[in-house]
Amino acid sequence: MGSVQLVTTILAAAITTLAVWLAVQAVLRIVAVVRLGQPDPARFGDTLTRTRTMLAETAGHTRMLRWSVVGAAHWFVMVAFVVLSLLVLEAYFEVVSPTGGLPLIGGWAAYGLVTELIGILGTVGIVVLIAIRIRNRPGRPGGRSRFTGSTMWQGYFVEAVVLAVLVMGFLIRGFKVATDHFEYPTWATPVSHAVGAVLPDWEAGVSVAALIKIMISMTWLIVIALNVTMGVAWHRFLAFFNIYFKRDPGRAGSGLGALRPMMSNGKPLDFEEADPESDQFGVAQVEQFTWKGLLDFSTCTECGRCQSQCPAWNTGKPLSPKLLVLSLRDHAYAKAPYLLAGGGKDLTGEEKATAAQLAHVDVLALAEAEKPLIGGAEEGGVIDPDVLWSCTTCGACVEQCPVDIEHVDHIVDMRRYQVLIESSFPSEAGVMLRNLENKGNPWGAPQNTREDWTKGLDFQVPRVGEVEDFEYLFWVGCAGAFEDRAKKTTRAVATLLHEAGVSFAILGEGETCTGDPARRIGNEFVFQMLAQQNVETLNEAFEGREKTKRKIVATCPHCFNTLGNEYGQLGGEFEVVHHTQLLAHLVSTGKLTPVQPVDGGVTYHDPCYLGRHNRIFAPPREVLGSSVQEAVTEMPRNSERSFCCGAGGARMWMEERIGKRINVDRVEEAMSTGAKTIAVGCPFCSTMLNDGVNGKGAGEQVEVVDVASVLLRSVKPAQDRDGQPAEPVTG
Ligand code: SF4
Ligand code: SF4
Repeated sequence: MGSVQLVTTILAAAITTLAVWLAVQAVLRIVAVVRLGQPDPARFGDTLTRTRTMLAETAGHTRMLRWSVVGAAHWFVMVAFVVLSLLVLEAYFEVVSPTGGLPLIGGWAAYGLVTELIGILGTVGIVVLIAIRIRNRPGRPGGRSRFTGSTMWQGYFVEAVVLAVLVMGFLIRGFKVATDHFEYPTWATPVSHAVGAVLPDWEAGVSVAALIKIMISMTWLIVIALNVTMGVAWHRFLAFFNIYFKRDPGRAGSGLGALRPMMSNGKPLDFEEADPESDQFGVAQVEQFTWKGLLDFSTCTECGRCQSQCPAWNTGKPLSPKLLVLSLRDHAYAKAPYLLAGGGKDLTGEEKATAAQLAHVDVLALAEAEKPLIGGAEEGGVIDPDVLWSCTTCGACVEQCPVDIEHVDHIVDMRRYQVLIESSFPSEAGVMLRNLENKGNPWGAPQNTREDWTKGLDFQVPRVGEVEDFEYLFWVGCAGAFEDRAKKTTRAVATLLHEAGVSFAILGEGETCTGDPARRIGNEFVFQMLAQQNVETLNEAFEGREKTKRKIVATCPHCFNTLGNEYGQLGGEFEVVHHTQLLAHLVSTGKLTPVQPVDGGVTYHDPCYLGRHNRIFAPPREVLGSSVQEAVTEMPRNSERSFCCGAGGARMWMEERIGKRINVDRVEEAMSTGAKTIAVGCPFCSTMLNDGVNGKGAGEQVEVVDVASVLLRSVKPAQDRDGQPAEPVTG
């Protein structure tokens, strides 16, 4: 060993020892913080599906590739990171000797070729990612950046390290070529040979370049070890676990659809036995999230994909799902020393730790522990109430997140505590909650007017109990029964089902709100009250039928989602379809025949709870395709990336005081297609978009109408827009 190699070996060993020691401490710290969370036993079942999904999403980049250029570049960088770790290992042999290499595979042409190719593609990939980060940097001219609020130096640092390590790899190989110590043929390693052709014949160059490569790699390890909240780096290790433990590994749209039930100590909360002094009601402290919640926060890469799709953020509200996650992460890690020392408040608000336990806790951690989880700037709150209440639970963030963070569950968990324990929520929503409790519907309409929508129809709408048998129970929903525009959809659907000869029946006055708005605002108590009542009614209506024959058709995607995805949590198992699915089936089987195409151009707005939350994208488009003259014109944001109307998450019953109105933003996008008809599949979307169109004074040029009404006009052109015969019904 020459003197240069002696120095390079000592320096490499020293920095590696320090880096590895710090990294081990950091890993222990992350594990300790995650373990502070509440139990969540449901995350451990179905290991095969979990493993398969995790491998597909990581090795296959199935979610990232939806952002195709970024996804492809990131895939190459990820593969380069994994494979080229071998080359960092090889550098340890090269600091010792300029002819050093990996035992066994070193010198093998195939290894040389693969590492060369991955080195080239990884370099291209990282340059693309750096260019994208610079192009999308915050404050750039011409639009909001998805990186706004991200810690930019960390992103640049990580990317610069990757680039430098890749470049050093080619330099090491180049010096080996120049000094004639390189064992791989030119055809397998053309770039290394080209670099070698311009480098001097300096033998120590191999060891010096290898040392620099190790120094860069270990500096990276030291920096991330000293910054455990540096998600842009730590996600490389944590993403595997976060994806593996996601809520519904076998479901497209995991973390969407049903909300996670309200849990206390790892078990669903039963309100008949629950006690706020011993059971956790939602989340009031960061450690009351489950360990998976804390893992979610730790894994965030700060990529901002969620933020770029969030309707609240895009219309100037203070909510960004990314910033919410980052705030919770930073708070959890800052508070952790206090919690790890035994600190924390019990459910009555008493401090659990003794003074002796807290004596050595850092004052900053103690100060962090005093911050309320939800509170305005004057109280030093971690999450501002305006952030919490701006969410429409549209699920765009969950859909976009490449590491499967479950934002909606976390937001609703925080809302649950605010509503159930603090009674703190936008006051205007109180009327809706009172109406649900007292009248069984959010509008407070009298129950005996639930069947008013049937008046004027030229056929009898049968009620459950009055007919011998029925195939579908038609769940009308509160909007469908009480709201004027939605009543038109209800009539159109009933008319089409009647026309197609489908046997169906309604519950009439036996129906009550599914509880969706109560659940999304956080009032699990009212939700369970309504849901239990409905499950009982429905189980009675379907008595004696197996699950496949307990069929429900619903026009409201919120009812559809709650009945199909959430009532199972309370013992109600049904086969629920949305009316657009049933209508598409009836058209495709020839039971309904559109005869007169509707003209003027149509665009379709995907309701969040039908599309993203339940993956129903094609049936409404099929119905429209069969009924309209020209092909459906898609809006720029459609299907999985559809933009919310602004009504979900009980926002329908809250004032929208901050920023631009979400419905106006969506209407502008719809109108930009030039279509005269904006078709919807949800009564809330219908209300919001109608309001948006009217607000823009465009009511004469553009019409917002349900898919069912479009079909009815094509099937029965003589029918008027209310789903009633054009001629007055006589007799
Ligand atoms: S659910 Fe929708 S509104 Fe709520 S944070 Fe996510 S993207 Fe934003
Ligand atoms: S999409 Fe996921 S990883 Fe990216 S910033 Fe949002 S929460 Fe973090």
